[in-house]
Amino acid sequence: MGHVFALAMQKGGVGKTTTTLSVGAALAERGRRVLLIDIDPQANLTQGLGVDPTALEYSVYEVLLNPERGLDFAMLHTEAGLDLVPAALELAGAELELAGKVGRELLLRKALRAARSQYDYVLIDPPPSLGLFSLNALAAADQVLVPLQLHAYALRAMPQLEATIALVQEINPGLAIGGVLCTLADRRTGLSQQIEREVRERYGALVFETSIPVNVKLAEAPSHGRPISSYAPGSSGAHAYAALAQELEHRYGH
Ligand code: ADP
Ligand code: MG
Repeated sequence: MGHVFALAMQKGGVGKTTTTLSVGAALAERGRRVLLIDIDPQANLTQGLGVDPTALEYSVYEVLLNPERGLDFAMLHTEAGLDLVPAALELAGAELELAGKVGRELLLRKALRAARSQYDYVLIDPPPSLGLFSLNALAAADQVLVPLQLHAYALRAMPQLEATIALVQEINPGLAIGGVLCTLADRRTGLSQQIEREVRERYGALVFETSIPVNVKLAEAPSHGRPISSYAPGSSGAHAYAALAQELEHRYGH
């Protein structure tokens, strides 16, 4: 049975999408069967894999509307060696369409039920806001991966995330934080290092040994539609995400 992770943080720009894409690709290179699910109307993950969100026959939108159909019909097999359920821009309207539906937080969980045994790792990339899409991501996940951007207020976002997880535990009792990842680490600044120390003191073994450095190649890769491991394999970003993939395997097995 595959491990299902949701990247979560109710803030944009912290590295959720970059991490989903980069560690997903690194796990696929290590021979793992990987499925990525883009459930953000901005479709950044989809575009980062070179897929045009305006030219899709099916996307996660149809999956949420018809969860009993499973995921296979909307799935794409990408050149990066991993599978993707893409997001399309019409997803933005789905929140309203689904507003009156009973069990609307559990649609993705239901759709994923049959597919999860086909994968070692399923990574779900939600939007930064706590709306229906984030709730679906968290309700479908076994574990939450928390990217923490190493800047002055990094830890301030944690109580809100922990409260959200407690709320979702009412419908998904097993949900827990599976790991905290320090992102956008800037070794040149004392502040970044100090925040990293604070994060490690507070969250101990939950924090991955690997931190993700600021690396311009990581920012460039999405516009080339390729994961970092293929766009700039020698870069510090590629090395860091390869190390993270290895850590994930150590924690969760293959
Ligand atoms: P989120 O999904 O949390 O909103 P993203 O992963 O999209 O965050 O990252 C926000 C922006 O920062 C993107 O433009 C991305 O390319 C860039 N970025 C993310 N991680 C790094 C990094 N380690 N180094 C440099 N740029 C990064
Ligand atoms: Mg994102």
